[in-house]
Amino acid sequence: MGIAFLNGSFLPIEQAKISPMDRGFLFGDGIYEVVPSYQGKMVGFKPHMERMKHGLSAIGIPLDWSQQQWPDLCHRLIEENGSGNLGLYLHISRGTDSSRSHGFPKAVDPTVFAYAFEIAPPPIADKAMAKPYSVSTARDMRWERRHIKSTALLGNVLHFQYGLERGHGETLLYNADNELTEASACNVFVVKNGTVLTPPLDHQKLPGITRFMLLDMLRKDGRIPVEERAITMDEVAGADEVWITSSSKEIVPVTEVDGVPVGNGQVGDIWLAAQTLYSANKFNY
Ligand code: PLP
Repeated sequence: MGIAFLNGSFLPIEQAKISPMDRGFLFGDGIYEVVPSYQGKMVGFKPHMERMKHGLSAIGIPLDWSQQQWPDLCHRLIEENGSGNLGLYLHISRGTDSSRSHGFPKAVDPTVFAYAFEIAPPPIADKAMAKPYSVSTARDMRWERRHIKSTALLGNVLHFQYGLERGHGETLLYNADNELTEASACNVFVVKNGTVLTPPLDHQKLPGITRFMLLDMLRKDGRIPVEERAITMDEVAGADEVWITSSSKEIVPVTEVDGVPVGNGQVGDIWLAAQTLYSANKFNY
């Protein structure tokens, strides 16, 4: 068990306690981030902080932390938790109120909680070492503000469980127009005829930091064409490659969708090129 942070104190996680009147507990009224850290080096810290600030402002949580408090907190968590391969979980809820009222309470302090958990070593850009996923698909039944990294994750949990119960590691989600949105805890990329495609950002999906960094790297590198555009589920079914991305997984090849092989059913060449680029550049953000 590791050392966590709760409202100003570092303490063993089993001693960290919040009130059942915390609005994060009662309403899922909060936002969170997961920042990966490998041997003490964080990936994408700056964009993670920017997304967190947008999230706080989108749901109107006033948090008067200085610029330096978040990096200080993260470095201390790394120090306290052994600096291996860690996911740093950062969570801010609206705070603890005396009554369970939907309206925002006045003059309560946000609850800030953080802890570190072990994550798998980053993928090695090698087809033989890749750990491909098989996935389910389902109609996206979540709320209309999926661009906010809300702690209210019941929709995501149910979608993830749906895939799990079918022996799959993720569930790809599509909207009423049969267009791919994202997965329950990942963004999704598709490769067709050598072009990397991913759906454009809007309220239907989280602006993933891995997605952002990967697109940026691919564009700067320039060797593989990239397009952000709507992708139908028929295109997913006819794709040469499918990948899912998240901070703790980086780029994961998907070789089977709903029991049907993707392309030739093997980990693809473009995945290899993308993961090679990501591995080489991920500490630059
Ligand atoms: N989409 C959803 C719904 C997620 O929960 C996550 C990560 O947890 C992602 C996408 C990927 O985001 P990131 O790359 O910032 O980890």
